[in-house]
Amino acid sequence: MITESGKSILNGIAIGKIKFYNNKKVVITDHEISDPDAEFSRFEEAVEKAIGQLHALHDKAEAEVGAENAEIFEVHAMMLEDDDWRESVEELVREQKKNAEFAVFTTGENFAEMFASMDDAYMQARCTDMRDIASRVVNILAGVDQSSGVSDEPFILMAEDLAPSETVQLDKSKLLGFVTRLGSTNSHTAILARTMVIPALIGVNISEEWDGHMAIIDGYHGCIYVDPTEELLDSLGKKQKEDARQRALLQNLKGKPNVTMDGKEINVYCNIGNVSDLDSVIENDAQGIGLFRSEFIYLNSKDFPTEEDQFRIYRSVVEKLAGKKVIIRTLDIGADKQADYFQLDKEENPALGFRAIRICLTREEIFRTQLRAILRASAYGRVSIMFPMIISLREVREAKKILEECRQQLLSEGATLGDVEIGIMVETPAAVLCADDLAEEVEFFSIGTNDLTQYTLAIDRQNPKLDPFYNAHHPAVLKAIQMTIDAGHRHGCWVGICGELGADPALTEIFMRMGIDELSVAPGSVLPLRKLIRDLDLSD
Ligand code: PEP
Ligand code: MG
Repeated sequence: MITESGKSILNGIAIGKIKFYNNKKVVITDHEISDPDAEFSRFEEAVEKAIGQLHALHDKAEAEVGAENAEIFEVHAMMLEDDDWRESVEELVREQKKNAEFAVFTTGENFAEMFASMDDAYMQARCTDMRDIASRVVNILAGVDQSSGVSDEPFILMAEDLAPSETVQLDKSKLLGFVTRLGSTNSHTAILARTMVIPALIGVNISEEWDGHMAIIDGYHGCIYVDPTEELLDSLGKKQKEDARQRALLQNLKGKPNVTMDGKEINVYCNIGNVSDLDSVIENDAQGIGLFRSEFIYLNSKDFPTEEDQFRIYRSVVEKLAGKKVIIRTLDIGADKQADYFQLDKEENPALGFRAIRICLTREEIFRTQLRAILRASAYGRVSIMFPMIISLREVREAKKILEECRQQLLSEGATLGDVEIGIMVETPAAVLCADDLAEEVEFFSIGTNDLTQYTLAIDRQNPKLDPFYNAHHPAVLKAIQMTIDAGHRHGCWVGICGELGADPALTEIFMRMGIDELSVAPGSVLPLRKLIRDLDLSD
């Protein structure tokens, strides 16, 4: 048995086989091969595997982001069947005795350039697709996994690192837990693990050789056991069952109010990143959605999601919540959340860079598409909109102006729209210090403590070396929260917390005493939080 330790993201036990997700960048070499037949068979097998992956990705994307967005995966599968493309690879392998990786890469580049030089815009757009399919086949040939965790049996995912765009594409129905060498406890990847309620460890000294081996993640002690002994399987298996029993006990809190013993009531909502998180919102009896991280729709897409696709997603969330509040945060892309098709420049300081509302106010067409989709969904339930990364009154006014223009446009097109509450995220010191003015413009504040901590303490939340310094209980952070609550209340705004701190049991009483109106947490934290709140007595 091998034991390695790391930092735990979620207290819990996961037991299963390891699937190593090798997402390292492939370096392509050009060398002569001695057996062209064998090399070409290797290529054909890789193509078959790539087609299988693309069909699986298509089905998953269809369920999560709609048929129109999912279609691209089928287009890619068809491109892999193209005779000209295959013949070009064959010639390089058989006639010129090139290794398959080089042959596929070179053919991909040649075809991509040919597409790029065409007059037709549709054909030009195929240039990126060509590079994409070539890179998928090259990765398979080089043993780098692009399957995004698609598997037939449940597994523990192991990887060097996982970007939010990769995490969001994982097949959650089979994911028991994940373990990475890199990453920080405050990153979006860690947040996604908490949202999915799966044990995860970061900072672990992992090995590719463990692929397929049995393992246990012990999230309580921040350990992974590879090839565990029977005794350990037995004792941690029992602990896992005990956890499930404790969770089942909390079920009797379903339908009960979040009210302290002395009668103070608050709302407990959920954070989601995906439509697939909805079942867990309902199962855990959240009173609403306090943060829908809409950027994950974009991260799950190969191109800008259309108004229609987004509308379908927002509508399905709103309908499923059946009259409960759904707060949709407008696009918060940038920094660690990158989608290639946005073509954002590389930046020296991405967390302080071109992200969130700054992108939306600069590239208005993207913003308007999203706002129209959200407004249309408002006809089907209770929708609130909030803008992220606000630092000034000007931004709020501009965002509201664009929202109003979209509303008028939709009304003139004959659309039916519901009333939409407007709020902002308070996640910068500037927003805290201007909270009195900002509160005049909106109906609610939602405090994003993840970024508020990052910007107040000047600590990059992505940098694992700084985890020991990232103290979300820092007095400056708590003071900023109190200031925001007070300013909001002075101007008739309700104030919530949707950052990870909202679920911190050590702070529940403090937040209640500060006067917080709402806490929005990962679905798995709703019932434990409800229990805590109901056991509190704030009368002294
Ligand atoms: C936050 O910053 O606290 C927040 C909720 O937003 P995100 O974690 O997505 O940046
Ligand atoms: Mg944030």
